[in-house]
Amino acid sequence: MLAAYITHPDCTRHEMGPGHPECPERLAAIQDRLLATGLLDYMLPCEAPLATEEQLERAHNALYVRQVLQSAPAEGYLQVDPDTRMNPYTVPAALRAAGAAVHATDLVLGGEVPVAFCAVRPPGHHAERDATMGFCFFNNAAVAVRHALDVHGLSRVALIDFDVHHGNGSEDILAGDERVLMCSIFEIGLYPFNADDARSLKDAPNMVNVGLPKRSGSEAFRAAVTDHWLPALETFRPDLLVVSAGFDAHREDDMGNLGLADADYEWVTRQLMRVAERHAKGRVVSCLEGGYVLNPLARSAAAHIKVLIGAD
Ligand SMILES: [Zn+2]
Repeated sequence: MLAAYITHPDCTRHEMGPGHPECPERLAAIQDRLLATGLLDYMLPCEAPLATEEQLERAHNALYVRQVLQSAPAEGYLQVDPDTRMNPYTVPAALRAAGAAVHATDLVLGGEVPVAFCAVRPPGHHAERDATMGFCFFNNAAVAVRHALDVHGLSRVALIDFDVHHGNGSEDILAGDERVLMCSIFEIGLYPFNADDARSLKDAPNMVNVGLPKRSGSEAFRAAVTDHWLPALETFRPDLLVVSAGFDAHREDDMGNLGLADADYEWVTRQLMRVAERHAKGRVVSCLEGGYVLNPLARSAAAHIKVLIGAD
């Protein structure tokens, strides 16, 4: 098998009300596309385990973890931030999402598959050490990064985030951790609004943050990857790449305005695979973040996965 495809039915039972863009249908759209294109034939389907508190506490503080685990409503919804709600199934979904990222890391570092894609929700990259934010409860990618470092004993892990929104949660958790290089490209002026006001981005040496103005388009995105991410990754020489794979910078996704196309996701994944092959034995763990219009989400995720498994 060329890749693991890690998901769980629990991830579709969490939902935040009618019309909410972060909806269960997102996962079905991706899986349908992978089936239709035949890509799923090359992937090992895996059931996501529940993350343990110990695993979560590598990225979150223990009090916060317990608070999330205990706060789901018995029925209806609990509003936890202006954009984010819990339903009775949110906790198992969030535990499966983080557990998928941990399991992906175990499979890839154990040599069972070279790469893994976690088709999970809730997403994670806005979740801070002790705060739920922007549809995110536990920071799946950051939990995977810390698992690779603390449990598998890797020395250097790169976290790559191409979601249209800045991964403030991953930055909050990982800024200053010299074992981690975080590379991010995001749109300025969008949620979480931390790049253009007093809550400025953290100026840690292990953060490569590139904010692009709206309507920057494919060329500016690719230039930012080439000029900022790739030299930093080349110097860092990661043992593993973890990807926060958000597809909401797509031009057909109205959540952002960067104007990317399917081909940009294919291109950026190819650049990352070259880094992984040179330094990390080809090892990549990719976790779904944003992407809200179902058709471009499914196409972009398939373009990303096609390169991950080397079927391009
Ligand atoms: Zn996003």
